[in-house]
Amino acid sequence: MSEQEQKVAVVIVAHPDDAEFGAAGTVATWASEGWDVYYVICTDAGGGGSDEATDVGAAARMAIAETRKREQRAACEILGVKDVVFLDNPDGLLQPTMELRRDLVRLLRQYRPSRVVCQSPERTWTPVYSIGRYHPDHLAAGQAALAAIYPASQNPWDFPELLQEGLLPHKVREVYFMGAPNPNYAVDITGQWEQKLASLSAHVSQLSAKFDQLKQMLQTRTAETGAKYGMTYAEEFHRAENP
Ligand SMILES: [Zn+2]
Repeated sequence: MSEQEQKVAVVIVAHPDDAEFGAAGTVATWASEGWDVYYVICTDAGGGGSDEATDVGAAARMAIAETRKREQRAACEILGVKDVVFLDNPDGLLQPTMELRRDLVRLLRQYRPSRVVCQSPERTWTPVYSIGRYHPDHLAAGQAALAAIYPASQNPWDFPELLQEGLLPHKVREVYFMGAPNPNYAVDITGQWEQKLASLSAHVSQLSAKFDQLKQMLQTRTAETGAKYGMTYAEEFHRAENP
């Protein structure tokens, strides 16, 4: 099997639970087909505490970060994800910096995925702007991921220190953007719907209080997406090839 056919996928997102909302069914499908799937979470998840919190100091942030990391690992276990890497940038302050780009290139050259799932670096304005979908950390994670994929990961001249570390250039063949302006590809997740829900329910600290409402909303949305493609439940992406 040539390198471009290796069944390795990397999912790059800002926070715990971002990937489950957009791609849990797809991840579960790929894992069941023998793909090795790895998660990269760009932040430390320390900003995801209660909206009513009055103590937002370092100890409180560390406690919520630990909880959310544990929940993310539990969700990954449900989906068959091989491993999770936390880059531990401060939650809420993520920027598409050169340091973040280099960290992502390093991981791409180590894992050598043929597919990467990431967040959209662009906001969608139609049919209507959805404010909850466009956390600035999500846009930053999407921008950093795309810049890491092309050209930096595949270009030996970018980040020469990585070549010095023995990390050879690597070309990612397919990129799947979640929440992108022009979706052009769907994955049938009808058989993985329960697994997607289970993986979301692992994020207890974030979602348990409103889980029934969330399930209803997701079911409607996932079914609407599916109907566009003749599927019961589907996850939708903008899929780009890097030939
Ligand atoms: Zn998020």
